[in-house]
Amino acid sequence: MRVFTGIQPSGDLHIGNYFGSIKQMVDAQASSETFAFIANYHAMTSVRDGDRLAKLTMQCATDFLALGIDPNKSTFWIQSDVKEVLELYWILSSFTPMGLLERAHSYKDKTAKGIAANHSLFSYPVLMAADILIFGADVVPVGKDQIQHVEIARDIAIKFNNAYGDIFTIPEFRIQEEIQTVPGIDGQKMSKSYNNVVNIFGQEKEQMKTIKKIVTENVALEEPKEFEGCNVYNMAKLFLQGDELVALQERYKRGGEGHGHFKLYLHEVIWEYFRDFREQRAYFEAHQDEVKEILDRGASKARAVALPMIEKIREVTGLVF
Ligand code: ATP
Ligand code: MG
Repeated sequence: MRVFTGIQPSGDLHIGNYFGSIKQMVDAQASSETFAFIANYHAMTSVRDGDRLAKLTMQCATDFLALGIDPNKSTFWIQSDVKEVLELYWILSSFTPMGLLERAHSYKDKTAKGIAANHSLFSYPVLMAADILIFGADVVPVGKDQIQHVEIARDIAIKFNNAYGDIFTIPEFRIQEEIQTVPGIDGQKMSKSYNNVVNIFGQEKEQMKTIKKIVTENVALEEPKEFEGCNVYNMAKLFLQGDELVALQERYKRGGEGHGHFKLYLHEVIWEYFRDFREQRAYFEAHQDEVKEILDRGASKARAVALPMIEKIREVTGLVF
């Protein structure tokens, strides 16, 4: 089974990316064929500064490796190193009804947040379909925000297969029921491009500052507090299990502690969770040439899968004869 993910180098990786996608990929490495890439073409929808995109691409690759993507087990590359996806993107555009894209929530959310409503943002799901389909992905682990995009990829694949025969594998999304959408510090979906993230590899003081800004209910110190729907709790629960989780719930129910306490606790829990990953990150940060070599090797492995597929597509569509 082939499991597949992409992450945009559009900002610092955050705990939503980790639980929505990266952790699922790292865990899948034990039992599946895993493909993970840095979606730099996609990031151009929000990053318009060449130096910044280049820097974020390396940062994202470094973070990914630190978090446990193992290049010996996974195929790990930068999207723009396998340019055939752009050819497929155009081909698939002819199998993408406008209505399908017009209904995309992610486009609406992003334009509502002030991100420019240009064609690349609008047709983002078509490029994502090309990514998924050219590599024959069976399963795509995602957060809730991306379910619809995987469904669009399925629709496009089915339409294409109806026209040309059984070319594409029809992909399925995989979502962790207990995660779905990790809230940002403002209570909306945590997103790199929304400036509301708790990042994974920031400085400790900065992280504490960010966590202090998490929006919470205004309830007197001594009063009991709702944990369901509390942004602090909903972040903390990702890192806690069993007794620890129940203990936190009890603290909310008991009252006598302000949200400030829960925020302090959240910070401690997150900081501890990523301790070993920070050490691994320091290694890759100091060995950027090694990261580049890993990405080059990954691109070769990815091309070996994408090329036969695009050749087959060129043939069946009559582009080569
Ligand atoms: P951008 O703001 O640029 O869209 P993003 O933070 O939404 O960035 P993406 O690169 O678009 O991150 O998505 C990478 C993966 O992380 C996807 O699988 C997506 O579903 C998942 N993901 C992103 N945000 C969240 C979230 N808040 N909760 C759960 N999963 C998430
Ligand atoms: Mg996104």
